[in-house]
Parts: sequence; C-alpha cells; structure tokens
Amino acid sequence: MTVAGSYTPVFCWRGFVYLVWGNRSGRVGISHNPGLDRTFWLQRGCRQFSLLTPPLPLGTAAFLCDWLQRRLPLKGEPPLQQAAALVNRGRLKLGLPPWEAPPNTLPEPGPAPVAAELALVQKNLAGRILWREEIALALAEHKGAVNTPLEDLLQWLYLAGEVTLLPGVGYEPNGEPRCRRCGQASRLLKVTCAACGSGDCLVCEGCLAMGQARRCRPLYARPWPAQPAARGRPDLDTRPRLNFALTPAQVDAYREAESFVFQGKEKECLLWAACGAGKTEVTCGAIAAALSRGRNVLYACPRREVIRELEVRLTSVWPQLRILSLYGGSPGKFGTADLILATTHQALRFYRRFDLVILDEVDAFPLSEDPMLYYAVARARREDGQTLFLTATPPAGLVARVRRRQVKVIYLPARHHGHPLPVPEILRDPFLSRPGAKRLPRSLVNCLDLTLAEEVQLIIFVPAVKLVEEVVAWLLQERPGPDPNRPWVQGCYAAHPRRDEIIASFRREEFPVLVTTTVMERGITIPRLNVLVLYADEERIFTANTLIQIAGRAGRSPAYPSGRVWFLASRISPAMAVARRQIQEFNALARRRGYLLAGEK
Ligand SMILES: [Zn+2]
Ligand SMILES: [Zn+2]
Repeated sequence: MTVAGSYTPVFCWRGFVYLVWGNRSGRVGISHNPGLDRTFWLQRGCRQFSLLTPPLPLGTAAFLCDWLQRRLPLKGEPPLQQAAALVNRGRLKLGLPPWEAPPNTLPEPGPAPVAAELALVQKNLAGRILWREEIALALAEHKGAVNTPLEDLLQWLYLAGEVTLLPGVGYEPNGEPRCRRCGQASRLLKVTCAACGSGDCLVCEGCLAMGQARRCRPLYARPWPAQPAARGRPDLDTRPRLNFALTPAQVDAYREAESFVFQGKEKECLLWAACGAGKTEVTCGAIAAALSRGRNVLYACPRREVIRELEVRLTSVWPQLRILSLYGGSPGKFGTADLILATTHQALRFYRRFDLVILDEVDAFPLSEDPMLYYAVARARREDGQTLFLTATPPAGLVARVRRRQVKVIYLPARHHGHPLPVPEILRDPFLSRPGAKRLPRSLVNCLDLTLAEEVQLIIFVPAVKLVEEVVAWLLQERPGPDPNRPWVQGCYAAHPRRDEIIASFRREEFPVLVTTTVMERGITIPRLNVLVLYADEERIFTANTLIQIAGRAGRSPAYPSGRVWFLASRISPAMAVARRQIQEFNALARRRGYLLAGEK
C-alpha cells in the first residue's frame, strides 16, 4: 500500500556500506559519515577502506551490511569483487532498482570525538532506546550540551560496540520488513518520504502514536550498565510505609511476592487475584524487595488513568522515594527516579533497563490485543530480570504456562471483607425472546423484581451496542414508571453522547437500572449492586474472562457483599460454565486457606 504525501522532516540517516581491512582480516560497516569511521579504523590499524554502495536509507544499508557480514570471507585479502556481486544480490532481494556505483574518492578522516561528550551521551542513553531527536531532548532535560553533531557521537559509540544502531523499520535476513521499535511486521506503509527523499520509504503504523518509525530514521539503544553484586544503596530508605491493613490473604500473597524477588529463582510470576481483592497492595512486597537490593523497578499498565491513580497510592507508601510517572502528555520523559510507573506505550522507550517489571491488567484492552505492548515491556526488562503479571483474568496462553510450571503463580482469592465472591446463577431460558417481543422474559422480570425489592441497583450487560436502546425501550414499554421524564432504566455505551453524565447519575443512585455493553466491565464500583448478563451465551462478546470481570462488579463493598450475578441465556455456553467454575474454585481456595469469615458457606 502506498500513501501519497509527506511526513514531517526529522533526522534522516543516509549512508554508505563499506569494507574495512587491516591485518589480514576485515569487517563490513555502515556510516552516514565515512570520514569519521576511517578515523576510528585507522586508530585500530586498519588501512584499507572501500565504499561498496552509494548513500542508502539506514534500513537498506543495515540489511546489506548484515547480508555481507554473513556471506563474505572476512579473512585473508579484501574480497572486493565478491562484495560488489553480493551487494547486487542483496539489492535484488529487497526488490530495489539498480543504483549508481559508489564514489571512487576516499573520505578524509576527521577528528575523533571528545571523550567527555561520548560519556555524556552514553549516560543519557543508558537503559533506553531512542530516536536521535529524543536523545537531544534527554540531553537538554539534563542540561548536557555537546558541540559535536549528536549522530557522530552516536556513530562512534556504535563503532566501539557501546550503542546499538537500528533502523526504525529494518529488514529481516529474509528481506521481510519489520518495525524495530515495536516489533510488528504487518502494519508497515510505503510512503513518499520527505526526510530521505525516497518514494518507497517504510513507516510503521503500529507505533505511530509514539512518533514515526521509518526506514531512514535511526534508533539508538544502550542497555543499563550491569551492577556489581547489588547490595542496594545504603543512603536510600526503601521500606514501604503501609498505611492500610493487609488482609490475611494479602499478607500471604505479599510474602510470596517478596520471596519471588528475593530468591530470584523464577523469571516470571503471575499474581492471580480475584476481582476486587486488592492486588496493587500486594505488589508493594515485590517492589520493596527489589528496591532494597538496589534494583530497577517498572510498574507498567496499559491505561493512563491507572498510572495516575497508582502514582498517588505509591507516593503515600514511599514518600521518601522519587517516583516518576510516564504517560502520554506527562512532563519530563527522561528524568531519573527510584521507581518508574509507565503506560505500556511509554515502555517502548526503555531498553534492557529493569530488573523487575510489574505488568498490571495483562488481559485488558489494548494489551490483550496488541503483541507490540508485550514486546515493549519484555524489551524494557533486563535479560536476567523478572516479570510479575497481575490480573484477575489471565489470558489462556499465560494460564497454560502456569499449568506447565513455566510461570510461578501466587493466588489472591479473597476480598477485603472476607465474604466469598458472588457465584453466577445460570438462568437457562430456551425460548428467551429478543427486545420488542410482546412480553418480557419471566426470568428477566424476576431478577428485576428481586433487585428492586432489595433496593439495590442493577446493571444489565448486553452483547451489542444496538441492543442497549432496544432493551431500554422494551423495559419501559412494559413498565413505563411513574415519571416519563425520569426513566427508571437508562442505557449507555462507549460512544454514547451522554455516557459520563449517565454513569455519574447512576453512581448517585438517581435511577436503579442501567443497560450497557462490556465497555463497563472494568473500573466501575457501585456499592450495592446486582449484575445481569442478558444473552450471556453470545460467546464472541462474553468470553469466560469477560464474564468473570462482569461478575467481579458485584459484592465488592462490605455494605452489600452478597450482590447477585445472573447469566441469562437460551443455552449454557462453555464460557459461562468456565466463568462460574473459576469463581467457585477461588471461593474453595479462599475457604481452604481460612481467608473467609467464619460462618461463610
Ligand atoms: Zn512500530
Ligand atoms: Zn525515509
């Protein structure tokens, strides 16, 4: 697919592929400034230097460099003829038109960069993967000024093996393009590029929100330096000041999370918590264990609101630490801190930095749909680091790895108030009618009456946006209510024009029944609530995990811990059965471990 038009010009890397030879062996290199590379290699005793290509966009040059490095004999005499033939084969592999021969003249060696400036760049790039412009911003944020062009300093560090140089979009060894920032290969667009001037530049659509990853744009990465047997910083007080009482279930999970980090035997661990059981408090154990050993910790989550909320909570637990929150629009992207909180998107800028990554809401949109965000978080972790996943509804792949004992698991099966999780009641009505039918289904009416008699609120979840208004109209048609201007049942969905207003009014208990879609499955807590899932057998919408999240809305508050959950459908889908079984298993586990109040069945 080709998109016309141009993109904002940013630094564009165009350069040569070259062969350098000395002492009967050689190597292939790429450079935007071959004079600089000659200086570097002359210092290391290499005398022969030949350009193999004209200037090319970085992605193309990097592919050819790799291609030659694998195929050329790099011992003995310089294989110039062979190199030229291989360059041509590589060009054909990428489907690129023929180009002019490289210039015959040799680049003049320039001055070597100043050591202090190189050190400054290294320090600012540590643990990061950044565009050249972002490195300039990071330097500016730390008031570091350099006189040498930044790309020259970075090239020198790349030659010295201190920095990795990657094209925004590069090629796999088989010639397939792939985004080097977010790792995906399917959403790459061919564009006419104002930066490199080529008509077939590649841009990644997958991570466009974080700035353009293009074939001609260089990404620079440097791992965080390895710490000498970390004993922590003696000056840093890392003890958490827990200003809340942990429940027995939380205490056990807290200790297990702590020992996961202290022992460091497993690389990955799942904290599998019941909805509303307070998993964030538990992670303080893991965070404290890591910080006390001087380790770097990242708490990542797909949603920005969660990060902001978390910042407040963790600041009260560790008022003595510098906590940095990163999300779209947050200030100071390149600051240093003792503890970093970031959206999974922002994690795209870290490289081999963290010893412990806590990944919250692993199953929530957009993380569940987006392998790029997993990739980002995995790359932000050091190779020997650890990951702690937090969720009430882990994706199937993660559960399978827990079952195979590849991932450690910590269960947190009980809520604060010590009452069991409401177990969904399955109401099977083989002739369940659709909105508009003459009569409301008997089972639906029963749920309504029970709810209204107890003076609690009810959320009815439906599997499609268009059903929201239909079900509202259906209910009002049979039961108009006393005041038509203040209907007792209202509907809302993600794109509803009055969504926030309706939710706020429902929270203020101004009407008892809300009809909605799965958009409301998370993040809403109503103290006295029953939940009904209508047409719960629509498996494309109501997966087992969605049903568990929905059921998790009920019974959260001590004011009404026994909230009821109904799954109403014409048949029992496997997802409905799985959801109910999983909730029952959590209750059984909580009971066995003695987490439930005495007298709870
Ligand atoms: Zn990308
Ligand atoms: Zn370009």
